Amino acid sequence: MTAPTRVDHFIAGQRAAPAFGGGTHAVVNPATDETLAEVDLVAVRAAEDAVAAAREAFPAWAAMPVGDRCQFLFRYKQVLETHFEELAGMIVKEHGKTLAEARGDVRRGIDCVEFACAAPTLMMGKSLPQIAVSSSFCRTEDKSGVGIDSTVDRVPLGVCVGITPFNFPVMVPLWMWPMAIACGNTFVLKPSEKVPLSAVREVELAHEAGLPKGVLNLVTGGPKVVDYLITHDDVRAVSFVGSTRAGKHIYTTATAAGKRAQCMCGAKNYMVIMPDANQDAVIEGVIGSAFGNTGQRCLAGSVAIAVGDAGTWLVPRLVEAAKKIKVAPGCDAGVGMGPVIDVASKERILGFIASGEQDGATLTFDGRKAAMPSQGCFVGPTIFDNVRPGMKIADEEIFGPVLSVMREDTLDAALATLNRSRYGNMAVIFTSSGYSARRFRTHAQVGMVGINVGVPAPMAVFPFAGWKQSFFGDLHANGEDAVKFYTESKVVVSRWM
Ligand code: NAD
Repeated sequence: MTAPTRVDHFIAGQRAAPAFGGGTHAVVNPATDETLAEVDLVAVRAAEDAVAAAREAFPAWAAMPVGDRCQFLFRYKQVLETHFEELAGMIVKEHGKTLAEARGDVRRGIDCVEFACAAPTLMMGKSLPQIAVSSSFCRTEDKSGVGIDSTVDRVPLGVCVGITPFNFPVMVPLWMWPMAIACGNTFVLKPSEKVPLSAVREVELAHEAGLPKGVLNLVTGGPKVVDYLITHDDVRAVSFVGSTRAGKHIYTTATAAGKRAQCMCGAKNYMVIMPDANQDAVIEGVIGSAFGNTGQRCLAGSVAIAVGDAGTWLVPRLVEAAKKIKVAPGCDAGVGMGPVIDVASKERILGFIASGEQDGATLTFDGRKAAMPSQGCFVGPTIFDNVRPGMKIADEEIFGPVLSVMREDTLDAALATLNRSRYGNMAVIFTSSGYSARRFRTHAQVGMVGINVGVPAPMAVFPFAGWKQSFFGDLHANGEDAVKFYTESKVVVSRWM
Protein backbone atom coordinates (compact mmCIF):
# COMPACT_ATOMS: atom_id res chain seq x y z
CA MET A 1 0.00 0.00 0.00
CA THR A 2 1.39 3.44 -0.93
CA ALA A 3 1.40 6.22 1.64
CA PRO A 4 -1.19 8.96 0.98
CA THR A 5 0.03 12.10 -0.78
CA ARG A 6 1.07 14.94 1.51
CA VAL A 7 -0.74 18.14 0.66
CA ASP A 8 1.72 20.90 -0.27
CA HIS A 9 1.54 24.54 0.72
CA PHE A 10 1.97 27.04 -2.09
CA ILE A 11 4.32 29.84 -1.11
CA ALA A 12 6.20 32.48 -3.15
CA GLY A 13 5.20 31.00 -6.49
CA GLN A 14 5.84 27.34 -5.82
CA ARG A 15 4.67 24.27 -3.99
CA ALA A 16 6.31 23.88 -0.58
CA ALA A 17 6.50 20.48 1.12
CA PRO A 18 4.80 20.32 4.54
CA ALA A 19 6.95 19.72 7.62
CA PHE A 20 4.47 17.47 9.50
CA GLY A 21 5.77 18.22 12.99
CA GLY A 22 2.40 18.14 14.75
CA GLY A 23 -1.17 17.04 14.05
CA THR A 24 -2.38 15.85 10.68
CA HIS A 25 -5.75 15.48 8.99
CA ALA A 26 -6.67 12.79 6.46
CA VAL A 27 -8.46 13.96 3.30
CA VAL A 28 -10.95 11.18 2.60
CA ASN A 29 -13.19 10.54 -0.41
CA PRO A 30 -16.55 10.40 1.41
CA ALA A 31 -18.09 8.20 -1.28
CA THR A 32 -15.49 5.43 -0.97
CA ASP A 33 -13.73 5.97 2.38
CA GLU A 34 -10.43 6.06 0.45
CA THR A 35 -7.75 8.29 2.02
CA LEU A 36 -6.60 10.68 -0.68
CA ALA A 37 -3.99 12.74 1.13
CA GLU A 38 -2.73 14.01 4.44
CA VAL A 39 -2.71 17.62 5.60
CA ASP A 40 -0.28 19.26 8.00
CA LEU A 41 -2.60 20.86 10.59
CA VAL A 42 -0.09 22.96 12.53
CA ALA A 43 1.96 24.50 9.75
CA VAL A 44 2.72 27.71 11.63
CA ARG A 45 6.22 27.99 10.14
CA ALA A 46 4.74 27.73 6.64
CA ALA A 47 2.15 30.35 7.57
CA GLU A 48 5.00 32.64 8.60
CA ASP A 49 6.72 32.06 5.23
CA ALA A 50 3.45 32.68 3.38
CA VAL A 51 2.83 36.00 5.13
CA ALA A 52 6.46 37.02 4.51
CA ALA A 53 6.12 36.20 0.79
CA ALA A 54 2.88 38.20 0.59
CA ARG A 55 4.45 41.14 2.43
CA GLU A 56 7.45 41.20 0.09
CA ALA A 57 5.30 40.99 -3.03
CA PHE A 58 2.93 43.77 -1.93
CA PRO A 59 4.77 47.01 -2.89
CA ALA A 60 5.42 46.03 -6.52
CA TRP A 61 1.98 44.48 -6.97
CA ALA A 62 0.18 47.48 -5.46
CA ALA A 63 2.21 49.83 -7.67
CA MET A 64 1.24 47.97 -10.86
CA PRO A 65 -1.57 49.71 -12.77
CA VAL A 66 -4.89 48.04 -11.96
CA GLY A 67 -5.51 47.32 -15.65
CA ASP A 68 -2.24 45.38 -15.80
CA ARG A 69 -3.17 43.40 -12.69
CA CYS A 70 -6.45 42.49 -14.40
CA GLN A 71 -4.67 41.17 -17.49
CA PHE A 72 -3.54 38.30 -15.33
CA LEU A 73 -7.15 37.64 -14.25
CA PHE A 74 -8.33 37.59 -17.86
CA ARG A 75 -5.70 34.92 -18.56
CA TYR A 76 -6.64 33.05 -15.39
CA LYS A 77 -10.27 32.84 -16.47
CA GLN A 78 -9.10 31.10 -19.65
CA VAL A 79 -6.87 28.72 -17.67
CA LEU A 80 -9.84 27.83 -15.44
CA GLU A 81 -12.01 27.14 -18.50
CA THR A 82 -9.27 24.82 -19.83
CA HIS A 83 -9.02 23.00 -16.49
CA PHE A 84 -12.77 23.14 -15.75
CA GLU A 85 -13.39 19.37 -15.81
CA GLU A 86 -10.18 18.61 -13.92
CA LEU A 87 -11.24 20.88 -11.05
CA ALA A 88 -14.81 19.56 -11.04
CA GLY A 89 -13.45 16.00 -10.91
CA MET A 90 -11.23 16.87 -7.94
CA ILE A 91 -14.22 18.33 -6.09
CA VAL A 92 -16.27 15.17 -6.67
CA LYS A 93 -13.44 13.12 -5.19
CA GLU A 94 -12.51 15.10 -2.11
CA HIS A 95 -15.95 16.57 -1.30
CA GLY A 96 -18.43 14.01 -2.66
CA LYS A 97 -20.64 16.39 -4.68
CA THR A 98 -22.37 15.18 -7.80
CA LEU A 99 -20.50 16.09 -10.97
CA ALA A 100 -23.24 18.59 -11.89
CA GLU A 101 -22.89 20.29 -8.49
CA ALA A 102 -19.10 20.30 -8.78
CA ARG A 103 -19.33 21.95 -12.18
CA GLY A 104 -21.62 24.58 -10.64
CA ASP A 105 -19.00 25.18 -7.91
CA VAL A 106 -16.32 25.92 -10.54
CA ARG A 107 -18.66 27.95 -12.78
CA ARG A 108 -19.80 30.28 -9.99
CA GLY A 109 -16.14 30.68 -9.01
CA ILE A 110 -15.22 31.70 -12.56
CA ASP A 111 -17.99 34.34 -12.35
CA CYS A 112 -16.05 35.93 -9.48
CA VAL A 113 -12.85 36.03 -11.54
CA GLU A 114 -14.76 37.72 -14.37
CA PHE A 115 -16.22 40.26 -11.95
CA ALA A 116 -12.77 41.04 -10.54
CA CYS A 117 -11.64 41.87 -14.10
CA ALA A 118 -13.83 44.98 -13.74
CA ALA A 119 -11.60 46.35 -10.97
CA PRO A 120 -10.46 49.38 -13.04
CA THR A 121 -14.05 50.63 -12.98
CA LEU A 122 -14.98 49.28 -9.56
CA MET A 123 -11.96 50.87 -7.83
CA MET A 124 -12.58 54.30 -9.24
CA GLY A 125 -12.81 57.00 -6.59
CA LYS A 126 -14.91 60.15 -6.55
CA SER A 127 -14.09 63.80 -6.82
CA LEU A 128 -15.79 67.10 -6.08
CA PRO A 129 -14.02 70.17 -7.44
CA GLN A 130 -14.38 73.50 -5.65
CA ILE A 131 -15.56 72.18 -2.29
CA ALA A 132 -14.29 75.44 -0.80
CA VAL A 133 -12.47 78.64 -1.70
CA SER A 134 -9.35 79.98 -0.01
CA SER A 135 -9.18 83.78 0.07
CA SER A 136 -5.63 83.83 1.53
CA PHE A 137 -3.99 83.55 -1.87
CA CYS A 138 -6.07 85.64 -4.26
CA ARG A 139 -4.66 86.02 -7.75
CA THR A 140 -5.54 88.88 -9.98
CA GLU A 141 -7.48 86.69 -12.45
CA ASP A 142 -9.39 84.91 -9.66
CA LYS A 143 -10.35 87.64 -7.18
CA SER A 144 -12.65 85.49 -5.08
CA GLY A 145 -9.73 83.23 -4.04
CA VAL A 146 -8.20 79.92 -5.17
CA GLY A 147 -10.40 76.86 -5.38
CA ILE A 148 -10.00 73.80 -3.17
CA ASP A 149 -10.77 70.37 -4.65
CA SER A 150 -11.42 67.09 -2.92
CA THR A 151 -11.14 63.48 -4.09
CA VAL A 152 -11.48 60.06 -2.52
CA ASP A 153 -9.17 57.33 -3.82
CA ARG A 154 -9.51 53.62 -3.12
CA VAL A 155 -6.14 52.10 -2.24
CA PRO A 156 -5.12 48.53 -1.38
CA LEU A 157 -4.67 47.44 2.23
CA GLY A 158 -1.68 45.08 2.13
CA VAL A 159 -1.66 41.39 3.08
CA CYS A 160 -5.15 39.85 3.30
CA VAL A 161 -6.06 36.41 4.61
CA GLY A 162 -8.88 34.06 3.57
CA ILE A 163 -10.16 31.09 5.60
CA THR A 164 -12.60 28.84 3.78
CA PRO A 165 -15.04 25.98 4.55
CA PHE A 166 -15.38 22.55 2.99
CA ASN A 167 -18.67 22.91 1.16
CA PHE A 168 -17.59 24.91 -1.92
CA PRO A 169 -13.90 24.03 -2.29
CA VAL A 170 -13.23 26.08 -5.46
CA MET A 171 -15.89 28.81 -5.40
CA VAL A 172 -15.53 30.20 -1.87
CA PRO A 173 -11.77 30.91 -2.20
CA LEU A 174 -12.67 32.64 -5.48
CA TRP A 175 -15.14 34.89 -3.60
CA MET A 176 -12.06 36.27 -1.90
CA TRP A 177 -8.67 36.34 -3.52
CA PRO A 178 -9.38 37.46 -7.14
CA MET A 179 -11.02 40.70 -5.97
CA ALA A 180 -8.44 41.16 -3.20
CA ILE A 181 -5.51 40.96 -5.61
CA ALA A 182 -7.29 42.90 -8.38
CA CYS A 183 -7.51 45.74 -5.84
CA GLY A 184 -3.73 45.54 -5.33
CA ASN A 185 -3.50 43.43 -2.16
CA THR A 186 -1.53 40.25 -1.71
CA PHE A 187 -3.16 37.18 -0.21
CA VAL A 188 -2.72 34.10 1.98
CA LEU A 189 -5.41 31.43 1.61
CA LYS A 190 -6.02 28.82 4.33
CA PRO A 191 -8.46 26.34 2.77
CA SER A 192 -10.52 23.78 4.66
CA GLU A 193 -8.36 20.89 5.80
CA LYS A 194 -11.15 18.60 4.55
CA VAL A 195 -10.89 19.66 0.87
CA PRO A 196 -7.48 21.23 0.26
CA LEU A 197 -6.57 19.49 -3.02
CA SER A 198 -8.70 21.54 -5.42
CA ALA A 199 -7.71 24.76 -3.61
CA VAL A 200 -4.00 24.01 -4.06
CA ARG A 201 -4.65 23.34 -7.75
CA GLU A 202 -6.69 26.56 -8.04
CA VAL A 203 -3.72 28.51 -6.67
CA GLU A 204 -1.21 26.62 -8.80
CA LEU A 205 -3.23 27.37 -11.95
CA ALA A 206 -3.13 31.07 -11.08
CA HIS A 207 0.62 30.86 -11.39
CA GLU A 208 0.33 29.03 -14.70
CA ALA A 209 -1.60 32.12 -15.81
CA GLY A 210 1.47 34.23 -14.96
CA LEU A 211 0.73 35.59 -11.49
CA PRO A 212 3.96 37.00 -9.98
CA LYS A 213 5.30 35.03 -7.03
CA GLY A 214 4.15 35.95 -3.56
CA VAL A 215 0.95 37.71 -4.65
CA LEU A 216 -1.14 34.64 -3.78
CA ASN A 217 -0.02 32.03 -1.27
CA LEU A 218 -1.67 29.04 0.33
CA VAL A 219 -0.98 27.36 3.62
CA THR A 220 -2.81 24.29 4.90
CA GLY A 221 -3.75 23.82 8.52
CA GLY A 222 -6.34 23.98 11.24
CA PRO A 223 -7.24 26.41 14.06
CA LYS A 224 -3.62 27.00 15.19
CA VAL A 225 -2.64 28.22 11.73
CA VAL A 226 -5.78 30.34 11.55
CA ASP A 227 -5.07 31.97 14.92
CA TYR A 228 -1.51 32.70 13.83
CA LEU A 229 -2.64 34.32 10.58
CA ILE A 230 -5.46 36.42 11.97
CA THR A 231 -3.30 38.02 14.65
CA HIS A 232 -0.15 38.48 12.55
CA ASP A 233 1.19 42.06 12.59
CA ASP A 234 1.56 42.12 8.80
CA VAL A 235 -2.01 41.03 8.07
CA ARG A 236 -4.53 43.81 7.44
CA ALA A 237 -7.80 42.01 6.66
CA VAL A 238 -9.44 38.64 7.26
CA SER A 239 -12.24 37.05 5.22
CA PHE A 240 -13.84 33.96 6.71
CA VAL A 241 -16.57 31.60 5.56
CA GLY A 242 -17.61 28.71 7.81
CA SER A 243 -19.55 27.84 10.95
CA THR A 244 -20.89 30.44 13.37
CA ARG A 245 -18.79 28.98 16.17
CA ALA A 246 -15.50 29.43 14.32
CA GLY A 247 -16.64 32.70 12.72
CA LYS A 248 -17.44 34.36 16.05
CA HIS A 249 -14.04 33.39 17.40
CA ILE A 250 -12.26 34.59 14.26
CA TYR A 251 -14.19 37.88 14.17
CA THR A 252 -13.54 38.74 17.82
CA THR A 253 -9.88 37.67 17.69
CA ALA A 254 -9.07 39.38 14.38
CA THR A 255 -10.83 42.64 15.22
CA ALA A 256 -9.27 42.73 18.70
CA ALA A 257 -5.91 42.49 16.90
CA GLY A 258 -6.91 45.51 14.80
CA LYS A 259 -7.80 43.70 11.57
CA ARG A 260 -10.68 44.42 9.28
CA ALA A 261 -12.84 41.27 9.25
CA GLN A 262 -15.86 39.82 7.47
CA CYS A 263 -17.18 36.44 8.64
CA MET A 264 -19.91 34.70 6.66
CA CYS A 265 -21.28 32.01 8.98
CA GLY A 266 -23.87 29.32 9.64
CA ALA A 267 -27.56 29.31 8.81
CA LYS A 268 -31.03 27.92 9.39
CA ASN A 269 -33.09 28.76 6.33
CA TYR A 270 -36.88 28.83 6.07
CA MET A 271 -39.07 28.48 2.99
CA VAL A 272 -42.67 29.72 3.22
CA ILE A 273 -45.18 27.96 0.99
CA MET A 274 -48.38 29.92 0.39
CA PRO A 275 -51.58 28.11 -0.66
CA ASP A 276 -51.62 30.07 -3.94
CA ALA A 277 -48.10 28.99 -4.98
CA ASN A 278 -47.35 27.20 -8.24
CA GLN A 279 -47.10 23.64 -6.92
CA ASP A 280 -44.59 22.34 -9.48
CA ALA A 281 -42.28 25.29 -8.83
CA VAL A 282 -42.54 24.66 -5.07
CA ILE A 283 -41.62 21.00 -5.30
CA GLU A 284 -38.70 21.63 -7.65
CA GLY A 285 -37.49 24.60 -5.54
CA VAL A 286 -37.88 23.03 -2.10
CA ILE A 287 -36.36 19.68 -3.08
CA GLY A 288 -33.40 21.39 -4.78
CA SER A 289 -32.88 23.71 -1.83
CA ALA A 290 -33.12 21.05 0.90
CA PHE A 291 -31.26 18.21 -0.78
CA GLY A 292 -28.94 19.88 -3.32
CA ASN A 293 -25.29 19.45 -2.31
CA THR A 294 -26.71 16.90 0.19
CA GLY A 295 -28.04 19.78 2.30
CA GLN A 296 -24.51 21.10 2.83
CA ARG A 297 -25.09 24.67 1.70
CA CYS A 298 -25.32 27.79 3.82
CA LEU A 299 -28.37 28.51 1.62
CA ALA A 300 -29.95 25.08 2.06
CA GLY A 301 -33.66 25.35 2.79
CA SER A 302 -33.99 23.49 6.05
CA VAL A 303 -37.57 24.23 7.15
CA ALA A 304 -40.62 24.51 4.87
CA ILE A 305 -43.54 26.37 6.47
CA ALA A 306 -46.81 25.38 4.83
CA VAL A 307 -49.34 28.21 5.22
CA GLY A 308 -53.09 27.47 5.41
CA ASP A 309 -53.96 24.27 3.56
CA ALA A 310 -50.68 24.16 1.54
CA GLY A 311 -49.48 21.26 3.70
CA THR A 312 -52.14 18.93 2.30
CA TRP A 313 -50.49 18.75 -1.12
CA LEU A 314 -46.97 19.80 -0.09
CA VAL A 315 -45.98 16.87 2.10
CA PRO A 316 -47.16 13.99 -0.14
CA ARG A 317 -45.60 15.62 -3.21
CA LEU A 318 -42.28 16.24 -1.40
CA VAL A 319 -42.16 12.60 -0.30
CA GLU A 320 -42.94 11.44 -3.83
CA ALA A 321 -40.08 13.61 -5.20
CA ALA A 322 -37.62 12.57 -2.46
CA LYS A 323 -38.23 8.89 -3.27
CA LYS A 324 -36.94 9.52 -6.79
CA ILE A 325 -33.56 10.95 -5.69
CA LYS A 326 -30.77 8.51 -6.44
CA VAL A 327 -28.25 8.51 -3.57
CA ALA A 328 -24.89 7.44 -4.97
CA PRO A 329 -21.26 8.49 -5.60
CA GLY A 330 -21.06 11.83 -7.41
CA CYS A 331 -19.98 10.49 -10.81
CA ASP A 332 -22.65 7.76 -11.10
CA ALA A 333 -25.16 8.11 -13.91
CA GLY A 334 -28.44 9.64 -12.75
CA VAL A 335 -27.12 10.52 -9.28
CA GLY A 336 -29.19 13.11 -7.41
CA MET A 337 -27.39 13.24 -4.09
CA GLY A 338 -23.83 12.35 -3.07
CA PRO A 339 -22.49 11.56 0.42
CA VAL A 340 -22.00 14.03 3.26
CA ILE A 341 -18.46 15.19 3.93
CA ASP A 342 -17.30 12.75 6.62
CA VAL A 343 -18.20 10.21 9.29
CA ALA A 344 -18.53 12.87 12.00
CA SER A 345 -21.01 14.76 9.83
CA LYS A 346 -23.01 11.62 9.12
CA GLU A 347 -23.21 10.84 12.83
CA ARG A 348 -24.25 14.41 13.63
CA ILE A 349 -27.05 14.24 11.02
CA LEU A 350 -28.25 10.84 12.27
CA GLY A 351 -28.33 12.39 15.77
CA PHE A 352 -30.62 15.14 14.47
CA ILE A 353 -32.95 12.58 12.89
CA ALA A 354 -33.12 10.70 16.20
CA SER A 355 -33.81 13.95 18.06
CA GLY A 356 -36.67 14.81 15.68
CA GLU A 357 -38.29 11.46 16.48
CA GLN A 358 -37.77 11.95 20.22
CA ASP A 359 -39.25 15.46 20.09
CA GLY A 360 -42.44 14.11 18.52
CA ALA A 361 -42.11 15.26 14.90
CA THR A 362 -43.60 12.91 12.28
CA LEU A 363 -40.91 11.16 10.24
CA THR A 364 -42.64 10.99 6.86
CA PHE A 365 -39.60 9.93 4.85
CA ASP A 366 -36.68 8.20 6.56
CA GLY A 367 -33.40 8.79 4.74
CA ARG A 368 -31.66 6.17 6.86
CA LYS A 369 -33.62 3.54 4.95
CA ALA A 370 -32.99 4.91 1.44
CA ALA A 371 -31.26 2.71 -1.13
CA MET A 372 -27.60 3.77 -0.99
CA PRO A 373 -24.08 2.33 -1.01
CA SER A 374 -23.10 0.52 2.19
CA GLN A 375 -19.63 2.12 2.32
CA GLY A 376 -19.05 5.87 2.41
CA CYS A 377 -20.83 8.65 4.31
CA PHE A 378 -24.30 8.41 2.81
CA VAL A 379 -27.55 9.64 4.38
CA GLY A 380 -30.70 9.65 2.27
CA PRO A 381 -33.13 12.57 1.97
CA THR A 382 -35.22 12.82 5.12
CA ILE A 383 -38.53 14.64 5.68
CA PHE A 384 -40.21 15.44 8.98
CA ASP A 385 -43.74 16.83 9.27
CA ASN A 386 -45.47 18.55 12.20
CA VAL A 387 -42.24 20.16 13.38
CA ARG A 388 -42.64 22.92 15.98
CA PRO A 389 -40.39 25.79 17.05
CA GLY A 390 -38.18 24.74 19.94
CA MET A 391 -37.41 21.30 18.50
CA LYS A 392 -33.69 20.86 17.74
CA ILE A 393 -34.41 20.08 14.08
CA ALA A 394 -36.36 23.36 13.82
CA ASP A 395 -33.80 25.61 15.46
CA GLU A 396 -30.29 24.31 14.80
CA GLU A 397 -28.24 24.13 11.62
CA ILE A 398 -28.16 20.48 10.50
CA PHE A 399 -26.03 20.87 7.35
CA GLY A 400 -27.34 17.65 5.90
CA PRO A 401 -30.31 16.33 3.88
CA VAL A 402 -33.04 16.74 6.50
CA LEU A 403 -36.12 18.83 5.71
CA SER A 404 -38.60 19.85 8.40
CA VAL A 405 -42.16 20.85 7.54
CA MET A 406 -44.07 23.19 9.85
CA ARG A 407 -47.65 24.44 9.56
CA GLU A 408 -48.90 27.97 10.17
CA ASP A 409 -52.29 29.58 9.52
CA THR A 410 -51.08 32.88 8.06
CA LEU A 411 -48.12 34.51 6.34
CA ASP A 412 -47.57 36.74 9.37
CA ALA A 413 -47.40 33.71 11.67
CA ALA A 414 -44.86 32.14 9.29
CA LEU A 415 -42.83 35.35 9.32
CA ALA A 416 -42.90 35.43 13.12
CA THR A 417 -41.64 31.85 13.23
CA LEU A 418 -38.75 32.39 10.85
CA ASN A 419 -37.78 35.69 12.46
CA ARG A 420 -37.37 33.86 15.82
CA SER A 421 -34.26 32.22 14.40
CA ARG A 422 -30.91 33.40 15.69
CA TYR A 423 -29.66 33.02 12.14
CA GLY A 424 -30.62 35.22 9.19
CA ASN A 425 -28.90 33.95 6.07
CA MET A 426 -31.81 33.48 3.70
CA ALA A 427 -35.56 32.97 3.52
CA VAL A 428 -37.75 32.05 0.59
CA ILE A 429 -41.43 32.47 -0.27
CA PHE A 430 -43.43 30.65 -2.91
CA THR A 431 -46.59 32.54 -3.86
CA SER A 432 -48.51 33.96 -6.80
CA SER A 433 -49.48 37.05 -4.82
CA GLY A 434 -47.45 40.22 -5.26
CA TYR A 435 -48.87 41.45 -1.97
CA SER A 436 -47.60 38.39 -0.03
CA ALA A 437 -44.22 38.54 -1.77
CA ARG A 438 -43.82 42.22 -0.91
CA ARG A 439 -44.87 41.71 2.70
CA PHE A 440 -42.36 38.85 2.94
CA ARG A 441 -39.42 40.73 1.45
CA THR A 442 -40.16 43.68 3.76
CA HIS A 443 -40.43 41.72 7.00
CA ALA A 444 -38.10 38.69 6.65
CA GLN A 445 -35.02 39.43 8.78
CA VAL A 446 -32.43 37.85 6.50
CA GLY A 447 -29.66 38.90 4.14
CA MET A 448 -30.93 37.02 1.09
CA VAL A 449 -34.59 36.67 0.05
CA GLY A 450 -35.91 34.27 -2.59
CA ILE A 451 -39.27 34.83 -4.28
CA ASN A 452 -40.39 31.68 -6.10
CA VAL A 453 -36.71 30.65 -6.06
CA GLY A 454 -35.46 27.83 -3.81
CA VAL A 455 -31.90 29.14 -3.47
CA PRO A 456 -31.27 32.90 -3.83
CA ALA A 457 -27.70 32.07 -4.75
CA PRO A 458 -24.75 34.43 -4.37
CA MET A 459 -23.91 36.16 -7.63
CA ALA A 460 -20.50 37.71 -8.12
CA VAL A 461 -21.93 41.15 -8.90
CA PHE A 462 -24.16 41.41 -5.81
CA PRO A 463 -23.03 41.57 -2.19
CA PHE A 464 -23.70 38.34 -0.33
CA ALA A 465 -24.09 37.53 3.37
CA GLY A 466 -26.65 36.93 6.06
CA TRP A 467 -27.79 38.84 9.12
CA LYS A 468 -27.77 38.09 12.84
CA GLN A 469 -25.57 35.09 13.78
CA SER A 470 -25.03 34.29 10.09
CA PHE A 471 -22.63 37.19 9.66
CA PHE A 472 -20.12 39.19 11.67
CA GLY A 473 -18.74 42.31 10.09
CA ASP A 474 -19.92 45.24 8.04
CA LEU A 475 -19.07 44.67 4.40
CA HIS A 476 -20.37 41.52 2.75
CA ALA A 477 -18.63 39.23 0.23
CA ASN A 478 -18.80 39.89 -3.54
CA GLY A 479 -20.24 42.88 -5.39
CA GLU A 480 -19.26 46.42 -4.48
CA ASP A 481 -18.93 45.43 -0.83
CA ALA A 482 -15.91 43.28 -1.73
CA VAL A 483 -14.20 46.24 -3.41
CA LYS A 484 -14.78 48.35 -0.31
CA PHE A 485 -13.66 45.54 1.98
CA TYR A 486 -10.37 45.06 0.13
CA THR A 487 -9.56 48.78 -0.17
CA GLU A 488 -9.04 51.70 2.14
CA SER A 489 -10.43 55.10 1.21
CA LYS A 490 -8.03 58.03 1.11
CA VAL A 491 -9.40 61.56 0.89
CA VAL A 492 -7.20 64.22 -0.69
CA VAL A 493 -8.03 67.91 -0.27
CA SER A 494 -5.88 70.09 -2.53
CA ARG A 495 -5.23 73.77 -3.10
CA TRP A 496 -2.86 75.22 -5.71
CA MET A 497 -1.74 78.78 -5.02
P1 NAD B 1 -15.82 25.26 9.94
O1 NAD B 1 -16.15 26.49 10.70
O2 NAD B 1 -15.66 24.01 10.68
O3 NAD B 1 -14.44 25.49 9.14
C1 NAD B 1 -14.26 26.60 8.31
C2 NAD B 1 -12.80 27.03 8.35
O4 NAD B 1 -12.48 27.50 9.66
C3 NAD B 1 -11.83 25.90 8.05
O5 NAD B 1 -10.80 26.41 7.23
C4 NAD B 1 -11.32 25.49 9.42
O6 NAD B 1 -10.00 25.00 9.39
C5 NAD B 1 -11.40 26.78 10.22
N1 NAD B 1 -11.72 26.58 11.64
C6 NAD B 1 -12.60 25.69 12.14
N2 NAD B 1 -12.67 25.81 13.49
C7 NAD B 1 -11.81 26.80 13.83
C8 NAD B 1 -11.44 27.40 15.07
N3 NAD B 1 -11.93 27.00 16.22
N4 NAD B 1 -10.53 28.38 15.04
C9 NAD B 1 -9.99 28.82 13.89
N5 NAD B 1 -10.31 28.28 12.68
C10 NAD B 1 -11.21 27.30 12.65
O7 NAD B 1 -16.92 25.14 8.80
P2 NAD B 1 -17.13 23.94 7.76
O8 NAD B 1 -17.67 22.77 8.48
O9 NAD B 1 -15.91 23.77 6.92
O10 NAD B 1 -18.26 24.57 6.82
C11 NAD B 1 -19.63 24.49 7.11
C12 NAD B 1 -20.15 25.76 7.75
O11 NAD B 1 -19.87 26.87 6.89
C13 NAD B 1 -21.66 25.76 7.90
O12 NAD B 1 -21.99 26.29 9.16
C14 NAD B 1 -22.16 26.66 6.79
O13 NAD B 1 -23.40 27.27 7.03
C15 NAD B 1 -21.04 27.65 6.73
N6 NAD B 1 -20.99 28.35 5.44
C16 NAD B 1 -21.41 29.64 5.41
C17 NAD B 1 -21.43 30.33 4.20
C18 NAD B 1 -21.91 31.74 4.16
O14 NAD B 1 -21.67 32.41 3.16
N7 NAD B 1 -22.58 32.23 5.18
C19 NAD B 1 -20.99 29.69 3.03
C20 NAD B 1 -20.54 28.38 3.11
C21 NAD B 1 -20.55 27.71 4.33
